[in-house]
Amino acid sequence: MRPEILNPLFRPVTSLPGVGPKTGETIGRLLGTEEEARVVDLLFHLPVGLIDRRNQPGIALSPEGAIVTLEVRIDRHQPSPPGNRKVPYRVYAHDDTGEIALVFFHAERAFLERTMPVGETRFVSGRVEWFNGRPQMVHPDHVVDREAFDQLPKVEPVYPMTAGLARKTLAKAISGALASCPDLPEWLDPALFRQEKWPTFKDALTRAHHPAEPAELDPAGPAIARLAYDELLANQLALALTRANLRRTAGKTRIGDGRMRRAIADALPFSLTMSQQAAIGEIEHDLASDDRMLRLLQGDVGSGKTLVGLMAAAIVIESGAQAAMMAPTELLARQHAKTIAPLAAAAGMSMAILTGREKGRERDTVLAGLADGTIDLVVGTHAVFQEGVAFRDLGLAIVDEQHRFGVHQRLALAGKGAAVDVLVMTATPIPRTLVLTAFGDMDVSRLTEKPAGRRPIETRTIPLERLGEVVERIGQAVRGGAQAYWVCPLVEESEEVDAAAAAERFGALQKSLGPLVGLVHGRMKAAEKDEAMRRFQSGETRVLVATTVIEVGVDVPDATIMVIEHAERFGLAQLHQLRGRVGRGSKPSTCLLLYRGPLGKVAHDRLAILRESEDGFRIAEEDLRLRGEGELLGTRQSGMPGFTIARFEHHQRLLEIARSDARLLVETDPALRTERGAALRLLLYLFRRDAAIRLLRAG
Ligand code: ADP
Ligand code: MG
Repeated sequence: MRPEILNPLFRPVTSLPGVGPKTGETIGRLLGTEEEARVVDLLFHLPVGLIDRRNQPGIALSPEGAIVTLEVRIDRHQPSPPGNRKVPYRVYAHDDTGEIALVFFHAERAFLERTMPVGETRFVSGRVEWFNGRPQMVHPDHVVDREAFDQLPKVEPVYPMTAGLARKTLAKAISGALASCPDLPEWLDPALFRQEKWPTFKDALTRAHHPAEPAELDPAGPAIARLAYDELLANQLALALTRANLRRTAGKTRIGDGRMRRAIADALPFSLTMSQQAAIGEIEHDLASDDRMLRLLQGDVGSGKTLVGLMAAAIVIESGAQAAMMAPTELLARQHAKTIAPLAAAAGMSMAILTGREKGRERDTVLAGLADGTIDLVVGTHAVFQEGVAFRDLGLAIVDEQHRFGVHQRLALAGKGAAVDVLVMTATPIPRTLVLTAFGDMDVSRLTEKPAGRRPIETRTIPLERLGEVVERIGQAVRGGAQAYWVCPLVEESEEVDAAAAAERFGALQKSLGPLVGLVHGRMKAAEKDEAMRRFQSGETRVLVATTVIEVGVDVPDATIMVIEHAERFGLAQLHQLRGRVGRGSKPSTCLLLYRGPLGKVAHDRLAILRESEDGFRIAEEDLRLRGEGELLGTRQSGMPGFTIARFEHHQRLLEIARSDARLLVETDPALRTERGAALRLLLYLFRRDAAIRLLRAG
C-alpha cells in the first residue's frame, strides 16, 4: 500500500512524454530494472559528466581527457581501408590553433560525408585524447553546423551508456519525470539538514539533472551528497528494521544425520578444501542453533562456493526441511542445476529447477512438489521469490552472487518460510565495512584457498594491432584441443552494437575455425543461449565468442584461454571475474588482455595489476585506489553493490551518519509512527526498501 503521493513517481516510464513501449524497454535495459522501469528509476539515473559548450579552448589548448567544444573546418576524409573495418574512419579538421582527427569505428561512410562536408564549418563536442602528440576525438558527442549549434543548450548533462537512446529522448523523458515529481515531506533529521545546507529531495534531483556548472555534479557537492545520503539512509533503515525483526523471530534448529553429505562427498572426484570444510562447519553450527542464520560466504572466483551451498542444503534436507538456491540469471541457474543434479541423485535428494521459463504444466508440477514437500531442493532465479510459490517447509535459502539482488528480494524470500536461514554467496571481495552496508549484520565465512592442483593463470596484455597473431595462436591451440572464451567489449552506444561486435568477431573467427566457434550474447533468446553454452560445455564448440553475459559464475573447467578484447574498457573487478572463468581445471591457463593503445598512465597501471595479481581482494583495493585518483575508465563503473547513487569512495562519511541515524530511529520510533516516521516510509519506497515496511506491520 504505497502512499498515494508517490504515485506519479511509480508510473511506468512509458507514461512520460516521448517514451513509447520500445523506448520504455530500452530504458529498462539501461537502468537494469527487473520489472518495468518506473519514473523514479529514471530520476535516479544521474549524469556522469557535463558538456559545457562554453568551454571552447581551441584544438591545441584542449587538455587530455577534457570534454570540449571545437569550432573547426573540415579538411579531408580518410575512410577505413576496403575490407579492413578495424582501422577506423578518420575525418581531419582544423582551427586557428591546430589540427584534430575525428575518429569513427564501424562508420557509415555516406553518413559521415553528409554530416561533415569538406570545407564546411562544424561544431564538434566530445572528449579530446592526445595520441603521440596529436589530438583526436573518438566518436564526438555532437557534430553540428552553426545553426544547429545555436539551438543546443550551452550546458548539457552526459548520462552513462545511452543504450540505443537518443540523447534528446532521454533528456525529454527526464524533464517530464522531474516535472511530475511532487514536493515531499522532509525525512531528514532537521539538525543534519540545516547543518549540511542540503537542498530538498526534489531540488537535489533537479540540480543533479540540470547542472549549471560541472561542480554541481561533484559527488561531494550538496545535490549529489543529499541523494546519496537518502539512499544510504533508506538502506540503513531497512537493515535496522530487518535486524530488529530478526531478533523477534527465532530460527529453527536443523540438525542433519550426515548421510546426504557423505554421499555427495563420495560422489566427488576430489576432496573438499580446508576452507570449504571450515565454511560448512560454520554453517552447520548456525543451522543447529535456534537463532536465524544470516551468513555471507565470500570466496574469490573459482574457490568452490557452489559446493559449500549444496552441502548447506544437504544439512537442512537431511533434517527434513527444504532448500532453495537462487542465481541471478537463467544461464547460471541452469548451470547450477546441471552441476548439482548428479550429486543430488547420488544423495537421494530430489531436485527441481524453477525459472521464468518453466510455464504451464511443468511449472505446476514444480509448484505442487514444493508445496507438498516431495521436492527437497529447488534451483532457480528470482522466479522462486514470486507470489504463488509456496513451500511445505523451506529451511534454507541460498542466494548466489548476491550483489545482483537487493535487500528487497532477500526479505521477500525470508517471507517464504517462518524461520528461513539465509546463506548468501558472493565473489565480490568487499571489505567488512561494505559488507555491513550492503548486507547488514551478517556473519561472514571466507574461502581463502583455491582447490588443490590449480595452476596460476598467465595474464598478458597485448595491443590490438597484434590481433592477427592472437587469432592465429588461438586457432593453433584450439585445433590442438584447447577451449577458449573470446569476450567482446561493452560498446557504449547500445546493446545492439554490443551484440553486433560479438557477431562480427564470431564471423571472423568462423572463417578460420568453422564450426568450432560458438556465440552467446545478451540479445539471444534464453533457449539459444543455453544451447550455445551446452555446445561449449560439451566441447562441440571450442571457442565461445561472448559478451559479458559470461561474467558471472559460468563454469567450464576445460576452458583454458580467455581473450578479452578492449580490456581497457572494462572495470578491474569485471576483468577479474571474467578471467576467473579459466584456470578451473588442472591445465595451465592463459588470459590475453587486448587493449587499444596508447594507454594513459592509470589505464596502464590498472591492466598491470591484473598481470601481477590473481587476488580478488588486492585487485579490488587497487581499483578503488586508482579510481580515487579520478579516472573514469570504461563505461560501467562498478559502484557499491546494491546502490545506485552512493559511492563508497565518496560517501563513507555519510554512511556512518546514516547508520547511527537509523539505529536511533529504530529505537525511538520503531513503528515509524511520528511525522518524520511517515516521511521515512516514503523514503523506503523511493529506494525500493519498502519490504521493510511489512516488517513494521508484522511486528
Ligand atoms: P565459484 O566459487 O566461483 O562459484 P564454483 O563453485 O563454480 O566456484 O567452482 C569452481 C570449480 O571448482 C567447479 O568446477 C567445481 O567443481 C570445482 N571445485 C569445487 N571444489 C573443489 C575442490 N575442493 N577441489 C577441486 N575442484 C573443486
Ligand atoms: Mg559461482
